[in-house]
Amino acid sequence: MPESSTMRAAILHGPADLRIEDVARPVPGPGEVRLRMEAALTGGTNTKIWRRGSHARMGRAPMPLGHEGAGVVDAVGEGVTRFAIGDRVVSANSAPCGACPACERGLTAQCDDMLWLTGFFAEQLLVPARIVAQNLHPIPPGLAAETAALSEVLATVVKGSDRTPARRGERALVIGTGPLGLLWVRVLSASGVHVTAVGRRPEREATARALGADVVEHADAFTPGAAHADLVIEAAGTAQAWDLAMRSASAGGRVNLFGGLREAEDVALDPRRLHYEELLLTASFHHTPYHFADALRLLGEGFVTPALLLEEQVDLEDLPAFFDRAGAGAGPLKAVVTSASRSGHRAGA
Ligand SMILES: [Zn+2]
Repeated sequence: MPESSTMRAAILHGPADLRIEDVARPVPGPGEVRLRMEAALTGGTNTKIWRRGSHARMGRAPMPLGHEGAGVVDAVGEGVTRFAIGDRVVSANSAPCGACPACERGLTAQCDDMLWLTGFFAEQLLVPARIVAQNLHPIPPGLAAETAALSEVLATVVKGSDRTPARRGERALVIGTGPLGLLWVRVLSASGVHVTAVGRRPEREATARALGADVVEHADAFTPGAAHADLVIEAAGTAQAWDLAMRSASAGGRVNLFGGLREAEDVALDPRRLHYEELLLTASFHHTPYHFADALRLLGEGFVTPALLLEEQVDLEDLPAFFDRAGAGAGPLKAVVTSASRSGHRAGA
């Protein structure tokens, strides 16, 4: 059967308005690669984009949704030599320009001209030349596509932990038990620190413990200061959690404000504590090609048990209903999005 000229893709048209549509099937130009998606992942950031209809960096509706995923190369453009049809790869969702002042200083997550890629919730994905050149990675043999797809979230945490390295024997507090908070728990426990996790979903306590948390507390029962935390990771992305993070650090402690807030949200600082108790406040955003590759390497070494995070599988066609549920706070940690319809063989097409 000849390949049809359209494919199925999830397009966000506005806040909470996601539709699965026929869109033009992309054809790779020079330097570009097309993937047949094997596994894309949902996550907290996607739910946030779905709810808001936009993301501070990745764009605004109408936009194709999905920015974590892996697949098989099924077409390559002119001049592509590093990849061939049939290669299993995981694509990052960005690539820095490499030439701006931020890139020249090595701060590639702050690139002035970052190229962003969304649209992983689709039968196929066109990977732009810059990402092919810098941030498209072969999947190690034997590693499942859905596990490799965790590289994106893990890369943000690996980069964040470069920002606030943990020292063996310290006490760390992680606020938020979403996928990012839980990966922080894993990274910190691997560094030999005592980890307390604070979250709102009781069903995630066992997962937090399995990933290395020593203590798990419900947010409502948690008292700031009780953790005596040398290092606090805010991974909930709310103003309330930012406030809790800054109040929970011990004197001389470090705080990594990891979850991004909406533009309108404000957080008060306590100048007395900041100065006299020498708090170090920092943040980390996104990842770099270096951290993405490092995260994929860790996943290939079995650093994370994927089943702890990948709680569901959902068909591309069922994504609008999935986000209705996830947006109401009843979604899984992460779901693996697959497409039963294969290029040109969709039932009824
Ligand atoms: Zn740049």
